[in-house]
Amino acid sequence: MSVTPQYDLMIIGAGVSGTALMYLTARYTDIGRIGVIEKYAAPARVNSLSSNNSQTLHCGDIETNYTLEKALAVQRAARMLANYCLSQPDKDHLIFKYPKMVLGVGEHECALLRDRFKVFGPHYPHLQLLDKKAIAAVEPAVATGMDGHLRDEEIVALGSTDEYTAVNFETLSRSFVRQAQAVDGKQVDIQYNETVLHIHKADDHFVVETDHTCYRTRALVVCAGGHSLKLAHYLGLGTHFSCLPVAGSYYFTPQLLNGKVYTVQNDKLPFAAIHGDPDVMIPGKTRFGPTALILPILERYNYRTLPDFLRVLRFDRNVAKVLWDLFKVSDIRNYMLKNMVFEIPFIRRLVFLRDARKIIPSLKLKQLSFATRFGGIRPQLIDKTQQKLLMGEAKINPGDGAIFNMTPSPGGTSCIDNAEKDMRTVAAHLGAAIDEAAFQAELVEPVPPTA
Ligand SMILES: Cc1cc2nc3c(=O)[nH]c(=O)nc-3n(C[C@H](O)[C@H](O)[C@H](O)COP(=O)(O)OP(=O)(O)OC[C@H]3O[C@@H](n4cnc5c(N)ncnc54)[C@H](O)[C@@H]3O)c2cc1C
Repeated sequence: MSVTPQYDLMIIGAGVSGTALMYLTARYTDIGRIGVIEKYAAPARVNSLSSNNSQTLHCGDIETNYTLEKALAVQRAARMLANYCLSQPDKDHLIFKYPKMVLGVGEHECALLRDRFKVFGPHYPHLQLLDKKAIAAVEPAVATGMDGHLRDEEIVALGSTDEYTAVNFETLSRSFVRQAQAVDGKQVDIQYNETVLHIHKADDHFVVETDHTCYRTRALVVCAGGHSLKLAHYLGLGTHFSCLPVAGSYYFTPQLLNGKVYTVQNDKLPFAAIHGDPDVMIPGKTRFGPTALILPILERYNYRTLPDFLRVLRFDRNVAKVLWDLFKVSDIRNYMLKNMVFEIPFIRRLVFLRDARKIIPSLKLKQLSFATRFGGIRPQLIDKTQQKLLMGEAKINPGDGAIFNMTPSPGGTSCIDNAEKDMRTVAAHLGAAIDEAAFQAELVEPVPPTA
């Protein structure tokens, strides 16, 4: 092992979370030496890769599983992300405008959306309540039944047509790296093809061992997906958590939708219902998904991460109880079984077709193909002490300068928001200053009216 390089802040993982923090600390703090370690040859090769997530800029208005409080927090996060993207010279590769809606089908879902509009409408000026004809004007295939006429059942949607709704989190990660390294007067390094194998604490700093080098750092933020938990365990942290990896797969059709069409969430299910939308990288197609399948790996299609999964599962009777409690609910049990079938060649298209027809009733089997090697893994945590499956992002912050992030959806949207929290914690730990005026003016203020 070579001589020890020293940093003020080290970030492990160059997905959208790690690179957002790299940018924020380089641009808005006076932290002088920032180092990033990434095990692959480029940023964003795992969940932030454009093919591995749904590319949605979640604003909270059409996500029916969000409370108003959660929605407004996500709205602020989305606004910061949009502000960053729109100020970049390559903004057309980062952020995209498509119509979006959440579709209610049948009396119950339509009533739910009408009620939601009353509560959420005042906070979302672009949000509209769309009846069948208004839906048809935006998404003809959604409003049309099998017979080519307007579909018979009651449908209503909440949506908007002139907002930024999609982000390529992969190009965004590359943009963060470029902009961080362009800041003058700082040492901002990124090492690719280096895997962090172990972390330990020595006096007032952390020692980060990779397969090449042994680094010392005063502060450490780990943004390594499910692997964050494994690295936290080396410091004796987060041992009351277990990680449940939930894979999401997708299906393609020819282009049948103009924008993003989400469906109403079944509130008994812990995972978002499927949606259909354009893929920002694949013109002429509509992508449906994601499904939700528990898999014993930490990275999709990478079975070498099986031993890491076993390490972070830490299976015991508390984990068994959480899984059993989930399995006992018939909606969840049926959903889990259905999601297994979604992965079985030949029959999976037939089963998925039934779900996708809620969005497009005239969809045909021959139009549907499984999106091979698309989809990532959401590292959902189980809190063993509370015997509970945690939804959303999780952070382990013992207050000694080390932070460990696990970021399932909407972790792409909240990358700057999450990085802001970490920047503040790290700056306080290091005694560093934050340029609050620049941060407010560039990221927090409302989106400028650029086209
Ligand atoms: C199916 C699916 C759909 C989603 N859809 C959306 C969506 O529409 N909108 C949204 O906002 N969010 C969405 N998300 C969530 C979003 O994709 C993730 O929250 C986000 O990409 C997480 O970024 P990250 O940087 O934390 O993790 P990752 O992108 O997974 O990056 C982790 C990085 O750490 C590196 N790493 C791991 N271990 C080590 C190690 N030991 N040493 C060095 N490097 C290491 C990895 O190589 C990787 O580059 C979705 C997620 C999934 C799975």
